[in-house]
Amino acid sequence: MQAYLRLRRKIIPYLEAGDVALIQKAFRVAHEAHRGMRRKSGEPYILHPLAVAQIVVEEINLGPTAVAAALLHDVVEDTEWTIEEIEKQFGKKIALIVDGLTKIQSSKKFDLNLGVSEQAENFRKMILTLSDDVRVILIKLADRLHNMRTLHSMDRNKQLKIAYETIYIYAPLAHRLGLYKIKTELEDLYLKYTRLDVYKDIADKLNKTKTERNRFINEFIEPLKEQLSRQGFRARIFGRPKSIYSIWNKMQKQNILFEKIYDLFAIRIVIDSEGPDEKIDCWRVYSLVTDFYTPNPDRLRDWISNPRGNGYESLHTTVMGPEGRWVEVQIRTRRMDEIAEYGYAAHWKYKEQGKSEGTSQRKKRRIRIRCLGALGARNA
Ligand code: MN
Repeated sequence: MQAYLRLRRKIIPYLEAGDVALIQKAFRVAHEAHRGMRRKSGEPYILHPLAVAQIVVEEINLGPTAVAAALLHDVVEDTEWTIEEIEKQFGKKIALIVDGLTKIQSSKKFDLNLGVSEQAENFRKMILTLSDDVRVILIKLADRLHNMRTLHSMDRNKQLKIAYETIYIYAPLAHRLGLYKIKTELEDLYLKYTRLDVYKDIADKLNKTKTERNRFINEFIEPLKEQLSRQGFRARIFGRPKSIYSIWNKMQKQNILFEKIYDLFAIRIVIDSEGPDEKIDCWRVYSLVTDFYTPNPDRLRDWISNPRGNGYESLHTTVMGPEGRWVEVQIRTRRMDEIAEYGYAAHWKYKEQGKSEGTSQRKKRRIRIRCLGALGARNA
């Protein structure tokens, strides 16, 4: 099966022989259990758990245990398999994750007719109590992301229900865990399915202004690029567009037209720097940027000295660019960038090969605690 081979290709380089066997077994069980079932779109059901596993590997960076659990995540909910059988076949850890996912799935559903924010809060709490292991939430987010990506085959009522649930519950969860990319995609998809006119309009305008924007970005970064390399930095520097949803949000909040939003993008500088010099290197880059462009002192944000609650680290400044336009510049190292995109999951690359090491176990636990802390869970 092609989708399975793709997953294998992606994950096998990181795995040991035992892990390959585990994933193969999880796939076989899921394949067999879902046999004959189809998604609303008509395709074989197994493609869904495979896609979720793929997201778990590629976009959340989790390891073999999570991949196996992702493959099995709908087996107990949708088939004859019981959690006891999963435990017998796959052990306690995977069974616990699958059990958490099953319980979220079958719990009381979000009802838009009732008080939304209170319900969202309750739902969030419920999810937290079910997820002793943060991977439950991460896999649930992967599951939701795939469902949102394939929402077109659902009927209209279902589309709306899932879209609202996503914006009230899952996008905020992704945000709390620092999964910026996933949060952004969930929000954009929400907008697409609830306000297609708005979504299309903004996407269209972004497209039309792309050439002009790219010209401006290139002009802006050209001198910086040169100076960075002269100073011996290895860096990537590029323009990062804002998401459609965040642009819409801004238009709503400030009651302005698309044309009036000046910060449709930020400039990001990602440097190769590791260890104790990370912070000082970022400030050196800051100094270099502000040699060319005048900074707005009110817009300096140092999230390196004080990382955000969700783990985000970066140095932000807004400077006066060419043509008198304000431009936000984000300065960070590769490590910080990875955390910014993947959140705590970036720390969460379960290198299960190293599980014999006591320290790495302790470290994992510490990360888990910080992670649950970010979610606002008590007794983490
Ligand atoms: Mn699912």
